[in-house]
Amino acid sequence: MDLVIRNATLTDGSQHVDIAVKAGRIAAIGPALPVRGAQEIDAGGDLVTPPFVDAHFHMDATLSYGLPRVNASGTLLEGIALWGELKPHLTQQALIDRALQYCDWAVARGLLAIRSHVDICDDRLLAVEALLHVKKQVAPYLDVQLVAFPQDGLLRSATALANLKRAIAMGVDVVGGIPHFERTMADGAESVKILCEFAAEKGLRVDMHCDESDDPMSRHIETLAYHAQRLGMQGRVAGSHLTSMHSMDNYYVSKLLPLIRESGVAAIANPLINITLQGHHDTYPKRRGMTRVPEMLAAGIDVAFGHDCVMDPWYSLGSADMLEVAHMGLHVAQMTGQDAMRECFRAVTETPARILGLEGYGLEIGCHADFVVLDAADPIEAIRLRAARRFVIRRGKVVSRAASVRAQLDLPGRAAEVDFRLGR
Ligand SMILES: [Zn+2]
Repeated sequence: MDLVIRNATLTDGSQHVDIAVKAGRIAAIGPALPVRGAQEIDAGGDLVTPPFVDAHFHMDATLSYGLPRVNASGTLLEGIALWGELKPHLTQQALIDRALQYCDWAVARGLLAIRSHVDICDDRLLAVEALLHVKKQVAPYLDVQLVAFPQDGLLRSATALANLKRAIAMGVDVVGGIPHFERTMADGAESVKILCEFAAEKGLRVDMHCDESDDPMSRHIETLAYHAQRLGMQGRVAGSHLTSMHSMDNYYVSKLLPLIRESGVAAIANPLINITLQGHHDTYPKRRGMTRVPEMLAAGIDVAFGHDCVMDPWYSLGSADMLEVAHMGLHVAQMTGQDAMRECFRAVTETPARILGLEGYGLEIGCHADFVVLDAADPIEAIRLRAARRFVIRRGKVVSRAASVRAQLDLPGRAAEVDFRLGR
């Protein structure tokens, strides 16, 4: 075997598991495997999981914090205006450099697949070219899936539809949209129809920024679900943000959720961003703005958590840490029960992998040998500690390693060291 990981704990709670890797795929998995590896890693009972997956990100804007200025109001609309100020000054090389730096951070955090939206409203399509280049360059260690995103509105911007089609022809994978930003509700609905029909014709997936608003009447998710169902696109369509659902009438939501379930549309919440960008027009009580995560899960709808932004016109913090995203999602949605916390871990691993349609993702024989060894005993402890990624493994090769977090104490009569883990 090329690699054997010994004494792993898996997310389902099974312990003392060995994982053997040959030619980049999982060849065997079970207790005390009688095989030798060219390389062996002792997990020491720590959690070994398939890598983190980010279902929603903007790699063209990332790490541009402060260019040309920072977002003073902290609102979505000032962020969009600020991005508009930055766009004419973007160079392809600067876009590539920032994206590659972010990909380094992602790998170090065990984040090995990212769906990134790319703004197609700049007629030069500089960002599209830059991110297609990055996608190819990082492919050996990180899967990037690109979404053609009409930031300024598909119908509101004169060249957006033509640019979107050009971007798809250049190799962008997924059709995006932003119906709540069109001039009218009717235009928003029309944009959803145009985009879904285009995607269906091309056999592409759809992922729209949908209802990123506190307006309870923003109901484009209904239209998205309708067209996904009508066009037979079940399992290939996602609605990102869906924050208006936070403010919707409960009766309407009781009708809406079964329609989303029937349409096979997945939901992608972005907890760090939703909690900071929404609710700005409120005094008190101040809305949280995140969509109805536990209710959608209970209705059988796939829900993933995305990072959305790191150090860009919309968000000044972040470091590609999907455990931080899960941590925030868990708090904002009050998902503090044992099962609910495990669901938050799935929302940054297997659920987004399903939404992206990643081939060979998982811990089964034949899957890609992509793993993270976390400094934690289980998914809940991993979220609590935003655990160190002891080893990040891609196709059977270690691509990043980090020391466990320890503090040396100097206290009379107390332990010499703490690692913040229970029962050790
Ligand atoms: Zn976004």
